[in-house]
Amino acid sequence: MSAKTSHNPFDEVNEKVSLAGEFLKLKPGIIEVLKSCEREVVISIPLRREDDVEVLTGYRVQHSSARGPRKGGIRFHQDVDLNEVRALASLMTWKTALIDVPFGGAKGGVAVDATKLSSIEKEEIIRRWTRSLVHVLGHHRDIPAPDMGTDSKTMAWLMDEYHRLEGFQPACVTGKPVELFGAPGREEATGRGVAHIAAATLKEHEKKIKGATVVIQGFGNVGKFAALGCEELGMKVIAVSDVTGGVVNKKGLDVKSLLLHPTLASAEVDERVGASEVLEIECDILIPAALGGVINEENVKNIKADFIIEGANQPITSSADRALRLAGAVIVPDILANSGGVMGSYFEWTQNIQEFTWPIEKFRRELDSRMEKAFGQTHKVSTKYKVDLRTAAFILAVERVAKSFELRGSLV
Ligand code: NAD
Repeated sequence: MSAKTSHNPFDEVNEKVSLAGEFLKLKPGIIEVLKSCEREVVISIPLRREDDVEVLTGYRVQHSSARGPRKGGIRFHQDVDLNEVRALASLMTWKTALIDVPFGGAKGGVAVDATKLSSIEKEEIIRRWTRSLVHVLGHHRDIPAPDMGTDSKTMAWLMDEYHRLEGFQPACVTGKPVELFGAPGREEATGRGVAHIAAATLKEHEKKIKGATVVIQGFGNVGKFAALGCEELGMKVIAVSDVTGGVVNKKGLDVKSLLLHPTLASAEVDERVGASEVLEIECDILIPAALGGVINEENVKNIKADFIIEGANQPITSSADRALRLAGAVIVPDILANSGGVMGSYFEWTQNIQEFTWPIEKFRRELDSRMEKAFGQTHKVSTKYKVDLRTAAFILAVERVAKSFELRGSLV
């Protein structure tokens, strides 16, 4: 099954913004502003190949700066296109508002298969991306971070290129290596946050955390740390998958031993399933932590989890979301569930600006308590408006961004 379906991810985000705007009785013009992107930049990136040049397309979309500098990752993936980047930029605006950090939203990407790039090619691409976009970046303008296909090493190259052009400013990018102005705790922050949100959801529904069964699609940055976090909290991870396929053990996988393998293809396990088939395994908690649109019209009827915690951005299409809720599943939306990453980026950014490093224990304490607070606030709004958690999260976030927009008087 291809994760890429015909849905337009930007339209899907904007449906939720419109709905939240209606609950909040915002004027139609304000809703239109909140649905538009402030700036969209499309660049071409010539990449040296053996005896020729290949031209790649790169993007930076800045959705909103109403609440602070724009913030968002850079994705290297063959499916990246303008509508996907717009959707992800918009989600960042709602995510940063929901968890109440002083950022707006942005996202970047390059349409390229990261798994086929050498380290030198990856460096060449990110340096070129940075040179072409330096005029719209900066620690008080727009701060990139890693996403699918990019990592802390990529962010180190970005920072280095930025420094060459604009001078020393480590807060210009987050998700850097700990040895190079990164923050201890940032790398694990998204997955750790996902695990804590899973536990908070079980608690809210008076279910036992210990022994709750967990299935995870995606075993990269988010999936790995979500698996470790769930295990640490006493849950039982029974299946995980990456692009090479899935591994299953109903008695519980040994997550740490799986981490020793470059991909799950080389892990020694009794039972294997397809990369997408893991989504259909019976479990308490399902964590899609790979691509968007993986739960859709084609497979929604086969999803058996009681609780779905969205580690990836937009893993469930709108129609699948409706069908799952009708069938009684509880879905914790991406803008809440995976917001630990941008929370961690906020901690890194503030530490860089203050030139002061927190111990990892403080990072984790702050992350856990702020994630729980965001979950509690979202739950309260869902009760107040009698709506699902996704609608509640959008109501809370849209209300905060609309308020900032109004107070700033940006129309004048
Ligand atoms: P990553 O590149 O580190 O890992 C992606 C994982 O997905 C890999 O294990 C890959 O093998 C797997 N994968 C790819 N295609 C697959 C398929 N068809 N079936 C099963 N597995 C597949 O990426 P990441 O940083 O972990 O990001 C994953 C998702 O989480 C993305 O949607 C991203 O936008 C979102 N996210 C990431 C962060 C972060 O801090 N990294 C923060 C918020 C949201």
